[in-house]
Amino acid sequence: MIDIRQFPCLSDNYGYLVRDAATGAVATIDTPDAEAIDAALAREGWRLTHILNTHWHPDHAGGNVALKERWGCRVIGPRGEAAKIPGLDAAVGEGDIVALGRSRACVHDTPGHTLGHIIYHFPDDKAAFVGDTIFALGCGRLFEGTPGQMWSSLSKIAALPPETLLYCAHEYTQSNARFALTVDPENPALAARAAEIAELRRRGAPTVPTSVDDELQTNPFLRAQDPGVQRAVGLSGADPVAVFAEVRRRKDNFK
Ligand code: ZN
Ligand code: FE
Repeated sequence: MIDIRQFPCLSDNYGYLVRDAATGAVATIDTPDAEAIDAALAREGWRLTHILNTHWHPDHAGGNVALKERWGCRVIGPRGEAAKIPGLDAAVGEGDIVALGRSRACVHDTPGHTLGHIIYHFPDDKAAFVGDTIFALGCGRLFEGTPGQMWSSLSKIAALPPETLLYCAHEYTQSNARFALTVDPENPALAARAAEIAELRRRGAPTVPTSVDDELQTNPFLRAQDPGVQRAVGLSGADPVAVFAEVRRRKDNFK
């Protein structure tokens, strides 16, 4: 069993600490800001034993070296971009199991945002740390991968048990909601969720984590097979990768 602590850092990132209840082993998911992570550890009285990186971007691995020097923690990261992960000790990929004390995370390859991007799924805890692959009502920009790669990465997340909580790396939900309404305008679940999100953000509350089930019902990037989304982007009956690519293209140009 794991305990999770979530805290905002940098401009719109979330930091996450994960503690194995049985042994006290503690991982940080990515290292957006070493000082903010140290402050969170101090608040809890926890000692950092692991860094679990999802991808190489500086707002995800930029604090690796400072934290490793301070804590002597073990750095685990994506095999597909091992050379770009500072301080890496162990490279992992699809099908690998990462042990945090007695807790277990399954690793999945989710290329698209970057080519080596991975996610960590703790099945016994119904929690997945998804980095910049999926966001509440959104998905990562395709900096390195193709729409086909990202569609199959998102499909892996969509296939996790529906109650799984998705711990995304950024608070982008409100602007994602504004865009989602333009490509899924007749979805009542989306309209209701957009209103809830506006209310949460008005109070300064996080909209993350989200769940697989909520994303299946409202995230347009998972809904490329939905007739309403297909119609809204002028691609009724098209292949889901083509629909996903068009939704992503529109989001890239959305102001
Ligand atoms: Zn990134
Ligand atoms: Fe990021």
